[in-house]
Amino acid sequence: MVDSLAGQIKEEMASAERPVRKDSLTGLDSYEVFLEKLEKGIEQIGEDRITVIYTDIKYFKYINDTYGYQVGDALLKDFVEEMVTGNDTLICCARVYSDNFVAANYLRGDISNEEFRDFIHKLNLERETKFREKYLNSRLKFCTGITMLNKDSRSLDAETAVSNANLARKVAKEMEEDCCVLFDNSMMEGIKREVEITSRVPRAIANYEFQVYYQPKIETESLHLIGAEALVRWQRPDGTFIYPDQFIPLIERSGQVVDVDYYVYREVFKFLSERIAAGKRVVPVSLNVSRIHLNKMHILEYVQELFETYQIPCGLIEFELTESIYLENTERALELVKGLHKLGTKVSMDDFGSGYSSLNLLSRLPIDIIKLDKVFLKGNMMQESDKIIISCVVDMAKRLSITSLCEGVETLEQSDYLKEIGCQIQQGYYFSRPIPQDEFERFMDR
Ligand code: C2E
Ligand code: CA
Ligand code: CA
Repeated sequence: MVDSLAGQIKEEMASAERPVRKDSLTGLDSYEVFLEKLEKGIEQIGEDRITVIYTDIKYFKYINDTYGYQVGDALLKDFVEEMVTGNDTLICCARVYSDNFVAANYLRGDISNEEFRDFIHKLNLERETKFREKYLNSRLKFCTGITMLNKDSRSLDAETAVSNANLARKVAKEMEEDCCVLFDNSMMEGIKREVEITSRVPRAIANYEFQVYYQPKIETESLHLIGAEALVRWQRPDGTFIYPDQFIPLIERSGQVVDVDYYVYREVFKFLSERIAAGKRVVPVSLNVSRIHLNKMHILEYVQELFETYQIPCGLIEFELTESIYLENTERALELVKGLHKLGTKVSMDDFGSGYSSLNLLSRLPIDIIKLDKVFLKGNMMQESDKIIISCVVDMAKRLSITSLCEGVETLEQSDYLKEIGCQIQQGYYFSRPIPQDEFERFMDR
C-alpha cells in the first residue's frame, strides 16, 4: 500500500517537474539522461559491446571531513576529468550521487571481459597513486564494478545494467586487495541468499535458534582456564548449523546484527548469573561487538540494563571490538570504549594485525587487551616473519601495559613459542574448539 502510494507520488513529481539535465557540480549529464542514453545504446547494440562501469571512491568522506568540501569537490571534478578527457568510446557518464559514478563505453575489438577488467584495475591503481599524492590521503581507493553488454543484452533495461554493475562494485568494495569486479549472474544468487537469511532472522530469534558457544581462554603461565569468548551459532529447525561468517556480514548490512548481538549478550548474562546463584565457578566472558553498534550507540544502555537485571560483577564481562572498527570511526570507537570502561568492563582490540595495522592507534586508545589475529599462526609451521611480528606486538603491548592474547593456537609448538615470548593468554583449537554451554560448564567444573 505504502509502496504504491510512494510510487504514485514519485510519478506525479516526475511529471510535474522538468527533469534536471545536468549535474551542477561536475557538469556531467544527470543520471536520468544517462539512463536514457544507455537505454538507446543497448537497443542498438551491434558488434561493439558496451561496458557499464560503476565506480565509488572509498574513504572519500575523509577528504571532506579533513580538508573540507571545497577540496572534496575538486577531487570529484578531477576524477570526472580523468574519465572523460580523450575518451572517444564514451556513450555517457553521470554522477549517481555523492562519490558514485557510472560510465558507459563502447568496447571495440576482441579484448576479453577479463582483459578489460584487468585494464580498468590497472587504471584504478594508477589513479590511486596519483590521487593519494595530490590529496594526501593514503587510503583513498577506487572500487569498480563492471557489467558487459552484448547483442544478447538487447532486452535488458538500463537500470538493471547499472544495478548489476553496482552489485559488482559492492563486491569489489568488500575486498581488501582487488578493486575491480566483473558482474556475473551468480551474484544474484548471493542476493537471493541474503534476502532468505535476513528474512528468517526475526523468527530465528523468537524461536531460540541462535545458540551461544564458548571458546576457553587459557593463561599461558599456568595453563589454567581464565575466561571464554562467546561465539554465536545458528541452528536451523532441521538441525543444520549456519556459522557466523556465513550470516554475520549479511545481517550487518541489514542492521539485524544488533538484535542478534543483544540476544547473545542476554544469554551470557543469564548463564553467568544462574551459575553464580548456584554457587558454581564462573570466569569472565568476552562478547563480540559488531561495527554496526557504532551507528546507534544504544549498546551502552542495553549493557547497563543487563547489569541491572542480572546483577553480575562487571569484571565478568569483556567486549571485543575489531581493529577495523577503530579504523572506520576512531572517534566513535573511542567514545564506545570509554562508555564500556565506565560500566566497569574491559575492552579488547580483536583481529589485531588483520588489516591496515594500526600501531599508532594503540597509544591513542585506552584498550585493555590486544587479540592478535589468527593469520599469524596459520599453517603448522610458524613463519619466521610471523614470529617476529608476534613477538614485537607482545613486547609493545607489555610496554603499554596492555594484556596480549593470541588466538588461533592450534599446535604445541605455537603454544610453546607464545610462552617463550611472554604472550599472556592463548585461545585456539589446541586447547578447545568453541563448545556448547553444557560442555563449557563441565570444562569450568573440572
Ligand atoms: P572472531 O571474533 O575473530 O572469532 C574467532 C573465530 O576463530 C571463531 O570463528 C572461532 O571459532 C575461530 N577459531 C578459534 N580458534 C581457532 C583455531 O585454533 N583455528 C582456527 N582456524 N580458527 C579458530 P567463528 O565462531 O566461526 O566466528 C567467526 C567470526 O564471526 C568471529 O570472528 C566474529 O567476528 C563473528 N562472530 C561470532 N559470534 C559473534 C557474535 O555473537 N556477534 C558478532 N557481532 N560477531 C560474532
Ligand atoms: Ca572475537
Ligand atoms: Ca578474532
